[in-house]
Amino acid sequence: MSKSILIKDTYILNPLSPSKVEVFKSSILIEKGVIAGIGDYDYADIVIDGKGKVTLPAFVNCHTHIPMTLFRGVVEGLETMDWLKVVWRIEENLTSNDIYWGALLGCIEQALTGIGVFIDMYFMEDIVAKAATDVGLNIVVSEGIIDINDPSRGEEKIKQTVKYARELPLKYNGKVKVMFAPHSLYGTHRRTLETIAQLSKEFGLKVHIHVAESLRELDFVRRNYGTTPIRALDRLGLLNERTVCAHSFYVDEGEIDLIGRRKASVAHAPVVIMKHGLKEAPVVEYIEKGVLVGLATDGPGSNNNLDFLEEMKVAALLYSYESKNPQKLTVQTVIWMATKAGYDITGFKGGLVREGYPATLTILNFRKPHLTPLHNIPSHIVYAAKGEDVDTLIVNGELIVEKGKLRKVDVEKAMDKVNELYRDLLGRSGFKPRLNGAPVEVKCKQTYM
Ligand SMILES: [Zn+2]
Repeated sequence: MSKSILIKDTYILNPLSPSKVEVFKSSILIEKGVIAGIGDYDYADIVIDGKGKVTLPAFVNCHTHIPMTLFRGVVEGLETMDWLKVVWRIEENLTSNDIYWGALLGCIEQALTGIGVFIDMYFMEDIVAKAATDVGLNIVVSEGIIDINDPSRGEEKIKQTVKYARELPLKYNGKVKVMFAPHSLYGTHRRTLETIAQLSKEFGLKVHIHVAESLRELDFVRRNYGTTPIRALDRLGLLNERTVCAHSFYVDEGEIDLIGRRKASVAHAPVVIMKHGLKEAPVVEYIEKGVLVGLATDGPGSNNNLDFLEEMKVAALLYSYESKNPQKLTVQTVIWMATKAGYDITGFKGGLVREGYPATLTILNFRKPHLTPLHNIPSHIVYAAKGEDVDTLIVNGELIVEKGKLRKVDVEKAMDKVNELYRDLLGRSGFKPRLNGAPVEVKCKQTYM
């Protein structure tokens, strides 16, 4: 039996819509994994003092490659496609042990920054699911399919995804969901994409794909599909309410409209956009078309951390800077992207602190110099708070982070393991770690794929 939890006298923030949040003061009673009531309560098995704290739905990271903590700082300063080529070369040497410990460390980092739910795209996703649930997070697994040169590999991965969909949600008691993950139009064979379109419809499984994320991708798609990436997805039958488009910033007005009409979702990762020198996504324009836009860190190999508060701030800054209009992307919208939109994209119920909703909550400690004076809570969350301000994370009524500390896993051990494993991985790939620079210094030719 799970213990009851009372969060006493806390500020509660609810993202009601992209343009509206409500904030009020009350207490939250949690029983059997669910918010049992909001009001005046005094007793529970565990009582959390909510004074000076803000409780809101736990954050949802809508696109990452979580085992890539092993790649943090490994490949730097390359254009997306060149970056990928080096990463794919190292990935060939990954073992299941690497994947587990890399994912565990990434899940630890996510939990400490208030992320309760995330969508992952990587290999050996059953192992990633284990790491996520060991930490206590909810996860959507999606086994990445890269088979542009060998579609028989894609067939295997499709079977694996279908097997995961049958087994993992049951095995992990609803804490794991499954999506198809063709990597991209340039990484996945057309035949595989067509099969996935068919099976997604048949099984009702969502599809998670990188799309419209680089100029070289646009060129590849023009040459191979005779159109733009979003339109190519649509022709393949892969643009609909089951599609989660990662990135999607190289789009024209017609494509923004098309994504809206097809009711597809977008995962927006602003830090990576800035780091790789890419292009701001038309976030506000998407939302105006009714598109669910969730926030994402992308992988720790390219971000390079998973601080969701930082991601929120960068989302707001990037849009204001690019649009030269500080009023268009509001803090209310950013909070909605980081929470409610993410739940709706993943299919996990949540995103509101309401009676009957799953108790998947983040509590921020506002008793900090940089969060004082305590007022205008939405602005403080987006512009002033940091990941380390996360005091508590509760997922499905289970206490995962308490007073800024993980409860279920040994953080020291995970760091030691990753420090050991990344050296071996680099060694197997022919690279050596250095303290004063990236181990991988590759001069890639600017050739098209
Ligand atoms: Zn990605």
